[in-house]
Order: sequence, then C-alpha cells, then structure tokens
Amino acid sequence: MQRAENPAELRTILDGLRADGGVVGFVPTMGCLHEGHGSLMQKARGEVGHLVASVYVNPKQFGPDEDFDAYPRQLEDDLAFCQAQGVDVVYTPRDEVMYPRDFTSFVQEEVLSVPLCGQGRPGHFRGVTTVVTKLLNQVRPDRSYFGQKDAQQALIIQRMVRDLDLPGEVVLCPIVRDEHGLALSSRNRYLDDAGRSASLTLRRALQAIEQAFEGGERSADALVAAGKAVFKGVEGVKLEYLQVVSRDHLMQLPTLEGVCLAAVAAQVKGARLIDNSVLDAESGKVRATLF
Ligand code: AMP
Repeated sequence: MQRAENPAELRTILDGLRADGGVVGFVPTMGCLHEGHGSLMQKARGEVGHLVASVYVNPKQFGPDEDFDAYPRQLEDDLAFCQAQGVDVVYTPRDEVMYPRDFTSFVQEEVLSVPLCGQGRPGHFRGVTTVVTKLLNQVRPDRSYFGQKDAQQALIIQRMVRDLDLPGEVVLCPIVRDEHGLALSSRNRYLDDAGRSASLTLRRALQAIEQAFEGGERSADALVAAGKAVFKGVEGVKLEYLQVVSRDHLMQLPTLEGVCLAAVAAQVKGARLIDNSVLDAESGKVRATLF
C-alpha cells in the first residue's frame, strides 16, 4: 500500500498505476474506520483495478459548536485497516494542503442540502460538497463509493457530480449495522453502555415506521407519528428530526409515492447519530438501496 500526503504525491502514484490500465475506485472517509467503511472498500475492491481511500477529517463540515476537535482520530489503526482491505493508495492530506490560508472558494448544492440535517447543521453540506469536489478532482476516480448511512449526503454528492461534471460514477452502498441494529458510525465511540442502549431508539423508531408501512400505511404524518411514539419516555435521547420524505426531492409528501426515505437524527448523550430506511411505495417493501 502506498501513501500520499499531498495532491502532487497522489498524482505521481496514480499516474504510475494508471499507466498499467485498470479502473480507479475511491472511498473517501474521515477515518476511525469500521466495518461500514470496510463494506465500501470491499465493494470497490471487487469492482476496480486500483483502490484509493482517503482519511481526512474535514474541518469545513463542522460547525463552531460541533465535535471537530473531539472527533476520533487513529491514523495508525486506519492505515492497518486500509491495508487489510486491500487498499492500494491511502491519501492523508493535512489541513494546510487542503485549505491554504487564503482559501475562499466553496461548492454548494442548493436544494437537497436544505432539509433534514441541513436545518440543524447550517454550512455542513457546503463543507462536504467542497471537500468532496476537491478530493474527486485530486483522485479523478472512475468510481467513488459512498454509504447510505449518510443518505442525504450521498444524494447531494450524486447530484453535485452530475450537475458539475465531476469525475467518476457515484456508487451508493447499503447501511452496515451492529448485531443490535445500531448503524455503525465513528461517533458511536462517544457512547457508554447506557448511551449504546439508548441509541437503539433510532433503529426502533425506523422499525416502527417500516412495520406500519408494510402494513399498508401511506400517510407520511401517520408514519412519522408511529416513529415518534417510540421516542416518548426514552431518557438520554433528544430527537432532532424524524421525517418521511421523497428520495428525489427530500420533501415530505402527504401520501408516499415512489421511493421514500424515513430519516432520523438524534443526540444521544452528546453524540449526534443519524439513521434511515428506504420505503418503496411502488412495491410496498422496505429496501436496502436507494436506487
Ligand atoms: P465518514 O468517515 O463517517 O465520513 O464516512 C465515510 C463513508 O463511509 C461515507 O460514505 C459514509 O456514508 C460511509 N459509512 C459510514 N458508516 C457507514 C455504515 N454504517 N454503513 C455504510 N456506510 C457507512
């Protein structure tokens, strides 16, 4: 496995790899790697000749009161993880390289970024789209892989890549959960035992929505009410939002149509957790993938 720490090193390595032919796949991450990231790497490994992963905690996507400083960092373990997953090149740029002092150019998606996490985290998606644009331009992958755990982010990136003709096809991968149903997340490390148990409320709420949906309920309000009922009386969990929205516009429709997303965000003892499930109103089934 080779390592690059700036765009010039990355370009030299990738030019060498591309000379042999082979499709380049890219998995961007913020590190503190777990099996959720591993699933993206495994899928990519099976589909591409050369696999690039980045480990970079992007300061521009954290608000002033968010957990940028506390965000878990464990580079040595992450390098070993990438190696074990068969990553060919790991890219670990530093802040000075990504954002020179006089950096003033940002990329902003203007519709899908507004609802859901866009409400509670102003500027977050602007930071995400800016860093992903930079990374895609630096790596120039044929395919890049994103997880549906961050479904809104994945949809925004897919839209941005199309709108701005950024390089590579965006591939979306299903959510990986632990044995209790909790979506794997680097932020799960913040949780103690009580927090881990409280965090299952997010999944339970989604399951209540899935059950009502599979039972034939198509009213968004009724589905949301079924999910919110699960949060009642649960201590240590502060619901930020729970919504059922259309996949294509992330807007709530009175009655579900096409493919919809039930999305939830909550603070569990200071850790902000998100989860979602995909409801296909055409087939009446819950599905693992957005597309
Ligand atoms: P992060 O390091 O949290 O920025 O995540 C990097 C990538 O891994 C993003 O595309 C995430 O959506 C994806 N990812 C994180 N957790 C999971 C998970 N539990 N299942 C699937 N993908 C995930």
